[in-house]
Amino acid sequence: MSLIVQKFGGSSVADAGRVRNVARIITETYRKGHSVVAVLSAQGDTTDELIEKAREINPQASRREMDMLLSTGEQVSIALCAMAIERMGCQAVSLAGWQAGVVTDSNHSAARIKPIRTERIRKELDKKKIVLVAGFQGISRYGDVTTLGRGGSDTSAVALAAALHADLCQIYTDVDGIYTADPRKVRGARKLEEITFSEMMELASLGAQVLHNRSVEMAKRYGVCLEVLSSFSGQPGTNVKEVVKTVEKTHVSGVAKDENVARLALVGLADRPGIAFKVFSLLAKHEVNVDLIIQSIGRAESKDISFTVALGDARKAKELMEEHREEIGFQFVELNEDIAKVSVVGAGMAHNSGVACKVFEALYSAGVNINMISTSEIKVSVLVDQREADRAVQAIHDRFFA
Ligand code: ADP
Ligand code: ASP
Ligand code: MG
Repeated sequence: MSLIVQKFGGSSVADAGRVRNVARIITETYRKGHSVVAVLSAQGDTTDELIEKAREINPQASRREMDMLLSTGEQVSIALCAMAIERMGCQAVSLAGWQAGVVTDSNHSAARIKPIRTERIRKELDKKKIVLVAGFQGISRYGDVTTLGRGGSDTSAVALAAALHADLCQIYTDVDGIYTADPRKVRGARKLEEITFSEMMELASLGAQVLHNRSVEMAKRYGVCLEVLSSFSGQPGTNVKEVVKTVEKTHVSGVAKDENVARLALVGLADRPGIAFKVFSLLAKHEVNVDLIIQSIGRAESKDISFTVALGDARKAKELMEEHREEIGFQFVELNEDIAKVSVVGAGMAHNSGVACKVFEALYSAGVNINMISTSEIKVSVLVDQREADRAVQAIHDRFFA
């Protein structure tokens, strides 16, 4: 008998029929003799709707109260699913994050899970119950409800699988695996049988929302066997693991798009030592993470620096630069929020030159202009105008996978 953690995303539990479908998958697993811990997300668009409700009342609501509000969505799902399971003749117990021992730090809306106290879950499993845990939430050491950030239920599931030493962690969603690009948007996207943790970590952090990036990081760290599959199709999904057997001819595993980025350009900086240090230490001090950076070649004793930040930090970063304009010494700062980062990821590219060149060729053929470029051993990213991003993804995907 093994212990299996199954996670079901929002669309998998969107209405009564789907909750029953999830209850069926869980009870079938249980009836095969396994212990099951299921982690559920809020139904459908509940989290977005709750955010909208909060906005109507107070657009600047504190993060503590936002967490209190958003955590209710997942609790509705687990209680309903427990009822459906009871109706199917099995015993189930639903547990909110705090009841399940999911302790986090107190960074509201982006909390990180500490070692989970599994006693309660173990006790319920020993009583032969199916345990349903609310995803996306935990409790801080001050006794406040916290949430893990959008898409965080994947991370709840992996953290529970690690803490319980589960044999498998299955992430059920609305597509039947991990594809070479978002199958809802990219023509010809192909399902992958397997993918390495490192590649999936890159894809997730570069915008492929199919898995929360911290869930993959955690699965790698604790060696959790992960499978991503559909709660609707019954087809085998994609395994995420340390080493995979198939090495694709293309050396590339996927293409991702991230629209959650903004670019700032500081124009007319003095061309002397210490300027970049001033700019980026100021941003670091105010906890603004910087991603891509380009500095132009100095000319007439002046140069420009462009960099990207998360969209949510863009205004703050611009204000910060403007406040310190004289001290840093530049002419003006320009903010562009209508951009997107498009990336190709593949472990195979480290040993194969020409991947970046193929990306540029694809974009040239599609007539897409590149604003910034960044490469590493396992990825090539380009910054493009947002309105051209989907075309860019399709062109790059066609170039590698058609
Ligand atoms: P859930 O609610 O189950 O957590 P998400 O909406 O968070 O589901 O993630 C699933 C979605 O991720 C899919 O519907 C798909 O549109 C999108 N997606 C983006 N990139 C990929 C990819 N490379 N492979 C599969 N799905 C992807
Ligand atoms: N309900 C949360 C969200 O929509 C968490 C999750 O679905 O993983 O972001
Ligand atoms: Mg998700």
